[in-house]
Amino acid sequence: MRKIFLALCIIALISSGSYASDKNRAYYPAVLGYHELKPIPLNEFDTTPEAFASQLDWLKDNGYETLSLEEFISYLKKDEGFPEKSVLITFDDGYNGIYYYAFPELKKRGMKAAFFITASTIGGIKGTKYPHITYEQLAEMAADGNMSIGSHTISHLRLTELSSDALKIEVSKSKQILENFTGRKIQAIAYPEAYYNGAVIDAVKEAGYEIAFAGGDSGLFGHESWFSIPRIFTGLELAENNNALFAEFVRNYKNMPEGAFKSRWKPIEKK
Ligand SMILES: [Zn+2]
Repeated sequence: MRKIFLALCIIALISSGSYASDKNRAYYPAVLGYHELKPIPLNEFDTTPEAFASQLDWLKDNGYETLSLEEFISYLKKDEGFPEKSVLITFDDGYNGIYYYAFPELKKRGMKAAFFITASTIGGIKGTKYPHITYEQLAEMAADGNMSIGSHTISHLRLTELSSDALKIEVSKSKQILENFTGRKIQAIAYPEAYYNGAVIDAVKEAGYEIAFAGGDSGLFGHESWFSIPRIFTGLELAENNNALFAEFVRNYKNMPEGAFKSRWKPIEKK
């Protein structure tokens, strides 16, 4: 009997701990998770610069305010909730489209965004279809107060699959490298491929991060959810039909069913 009770408790823990319900998500404003802007998209996670510009216009026209990471954290700490019409725009990986397309479009409109940079890839990886930003480009972005920089680890490995030493290095050294380079405090991290667990969260806290971003709608409850903040996977699909899904996600963020947050990582099939 005791064993059954214990098993039930474990199941209850797992099911409450692994996925955030809309109750948890309701605590946060919509966090948009972009990867790259490409005029000719190569993957479902790309967005075209035109679509991105029209999404920014949509946010502006509909009265949404974009937050910086620093503002996002300070709203969390005050615990009085976020402005009703606010969003956080995030980009993972540090591909150079953030410099060539995202940065100018944001600047033009006086809007804010956060960029999670994979520390080992700054300076570009030659011969790839997804070149990264250079140090000079990152420095220019980091010098702009409306652009926040966060860590996306050093090597973009799945953090749940690392030894505790390797995990520590990925999390704390990337913070140091980015702090040294940008001269700004790195307060947030986004988990590569959204892989995290309790040990990852412990390492992230120990390294001194204030918050961490997951992918999709996975997340934890209560204060622990600060270290698995859900994001809307923002790619090609959201821009279809004149941003129909994008508008729906932002507008109805707190009421969207969990399944709506599925990841969309898929290379585009050549016809
Ligand atoms: Zn990534």
